[in-house]
Amino acid sequence: MDSENQPLTGKVKAHPRGVGPTAGHSLQRLTILGSTGSIGRSTLAVVALHPSDYEVFALTANRDQRMLEQQCLVYKPRFAVLSDGQAATELQVKLAAAGLATEVLSGKAALNIVASHAAVDTVMAAIVGAAGLESSLAAANAGKKILLANKESLVVAGALFMRAVKKSGATLLPIDSEHNAIFQCLDNRTRIQAGVSSVNAQESLLQESLSLKEQGVRKLLLTGSGGPFRALDMDDFSSITPEQACAHPNWVMGRKISVDSATMMNKGLELIEACWLFNCQASDVDIVIHPQSIIHSMVEYVDGSVLAQLGVPDMRTPIAHALAWPRRIESNVERLDWTSMSQLTFEQPDMRRFPALGIARQIADDSGTAAIVLNAANEVAVQAFLDGQIRFPAIVKIVEQTLEKIPSTEPESLLHIQAVDQQARQLAAGMIE
Ligand code: NDP
Repeated sequence: MDSENQPLTGKVKAHPRGVGPTAGHSLQRLTILGSTGSIGRSTLAVVALHPSDYEVFALTANRDQRMLEQQCLVYKPRFAVLSDGQAATELQVKLAAAGLATEVLSGKAALNIVASHAAVDTVMAAIVGAAGLESSLAAANAGKKILLANKESLVVAGALFMRAVKKSGATLLPIDSEHNAIFQCLDNRTRIQAGVSSVNAQESLLQESLSLKEQGVRKLLLTGSGGPFRALDMDDFSSITPEQACAHPNWVMGRKISVDSATMMNKGLELIEACWLFNCQASDVDIVIHPQSIIHSMVEYVDGSVLAQLGVPDMRTPIAHALAWPRRIESNVERLDWTSMSQLTFEQPDMRRFPALGIARQIADDSGTAAIVLNAANEVAVQAFLDGQIRFPAIVKIVEQTLEKIPSTEPESLLHIQAVDQQARQLAAGMIE
């Protein structure tokens, strides 16, 4: 299940069931923002299975020059991007020496270029944190098919992002396993109201005014495992180490989202994300603890039907689903073994243990800047915890106190969002010092 640890290989593995490249479908040119991360690598693992369907156009990383170089040697993209100019120059020299024509760019503007380039069809937005906002917004403005892993884009700039998607006619597909599951459990017409573009423009126009309720949806049931500390004595929370927090029982993920899963701030961010994606209120979404992470979320309809999406916890499934949507392609994940799966259990979340859930629920319906503050303070506090500067329980306290200090106002523009983000980061950093 650990798709991260798969060897990086450009060789296409023999397909287990002999399904080859798909006839009648044009090649999709793909930019992977954050290709060296957990989602980025899982995306490349799926792409490697379907060389006739996907061509890697651009790969980007922050600092991991070595991994990016390896990926370039295998996938031969037209562009590679690193944050630092010096590192980009070094990589350019190495790739040229290896006979590659890949052009290496640097800086934030370069991310926007490869996300919105006319030659690109599909953009996997998998940079971690608010740092991923501008480039995913660039893809949205350019009308791309966006596979959105970077939930922070919706948390900090939901209104702006969804407006850009609608205006440009972009196709937005959720990668977060829970939102991808809900997307799969909604019928086509509901998906369209969810702000997700249809392949059929006429149908999209017809359905634009329908809400989830009008589509017969009573509740979205967002599942979460409860993370590594669901059953830990709360007296032990202050001695939790970064290694313990990053050891998720079911998923292998990047360090930031792993800590968010441990505080359950991740589920709070996902609640906000769901409200934007599916055009609903926080009260339309219930959070359900499901420790086995087999059901990835559910949709309850008014007639009593509950549709769930199940699978082994492996991000290659939602990635493959979104890459190929509305088709289905092989992802090479393990099959669910019904004979060894002894039980599926469900619980209410413990709000005392996980105060982040209550904070996120309080601000999920606030159209103002509170979510920007929440996200920025959380990013700063999580990094401080990972760096050994603060203890685990302080993460959510810092978020709470930063929120108290910055009143929520209507976000007016990307510049305003970025200014509030900076203000919250400075305040949170001051508290840590
Ligand atoms: P990782 O930390 O594993 O990877 C992050 C990627 O973003 C890396 O390629 C990293 O480059 C790049 N990056 C980091 N900071 C910057 C920056 N300032 N500018 C440009 N690039 C940057 O994260 P994940 O893959 O775990 O998560 C990515 C996103 O997907 C997050 O928003 C997360 O919430 C979401 N997500 C992740 C899931 C998972 O299973 N991992 C599940 C659902 C959602 P470098 O390697 O050089 O540092």
